[in-house]
Amino acid sequence: MIRFQQVSKAYRGGSQALQKVDFHLRSADMAFLTGHSGAGKSTLLKLICAIERPSDGHIFFNGHETTRIDNKQIPFLRRNIGIIFQDHKLLMDSSVYDNVALPLRVEQVSENDVKRRVSAALDKVGLLDKARCLPIQLSGGEQQRVGIARAVVNKPMLLLADEPTGNLDAELSQQVMRLFEEFNRVGVCVLMATHDTSLLSTHNYRRLDLHQGHLRELARGA
Ligand code: ADP
Ligand code: ADP
Repeated sequence: MIRFQQVSKAYRGGSQALQKVDFHLRSADMAFLTGHSGAGKSTLLKLICAIERPSDGHIFFNGHETTRIDNKQIPFLRRNIGIIFQDHKLLMDSSVYDNVALPLRVEQVSENDVKRRVSAALDKVGLLDKARCLPIQLSGGEQQRVGIARAVVNKPMLLLADEPTGNLDAELSQQVMRLFEEFNRVGVCVLMATHDTSLLSTHNYRRLDLHQGHLRELARGA
């Protein structure tokens, strides 16, 4: 699904965020992306969805090289990717329903299909009864689940999550993790950047570890 070949990223101003990164994720994979703050985790996720471009090397998504795709093609790439942020980036003056509907409306999906798919996504994360609420009326864990519903409403083949449990307590983190596992079980590839040591110690998935821009795969259970 994703292949990085000797990918480096230097930001303008000189900061070398990634250095000759190689890895491969298959469509059925679920993996953690770990590393200290500043190690390059967010940069790696941004390169996958072409929010940032690599300085060197090659990135493939489903066999297509995306390294130098032009801006016109980016929506086609992103259609296949759901992204979840730590701070969930919800629109605070729109209802839960409208937040989750956003990616479908961007694609001009018919309102009938929007209704069906938003309901299915909210049901999946257990928030069907909150559809009419504003995000401010929800708890932190519920807001994060709205972000997850929005990320999966398009049925993406890849789910990227950047510290999705960063603001949640242990119980809610495990709940979010169980949701990712359910998506993975039905064939969604999941890559999750995290610091969360309790999740890492209780879930034995592949672990891609970044250290000052260098990536290595840690043995399972390490
Ligand atoms: P992490 O997500 O692991 O905390 P990042 O990918 O955010 O790491 O950052 C990796 C390095 O790149 C850091 O040194 C950071 O300061 C730098 N960096 C990140 N984004 C930018 C940017 N837009 N411009 C310049 N430097 C950046
Ligand atoms: P076409 O020949 O009709 O332009 P492609 O063979 O380029 O189609 O693409 C086939 C499928 O791959 C489409 O579903 C498209 O969304 C997807 N796709 C095309 N380009 C990219 C890309 N750069 N990254 C990810 N997916 C792509």
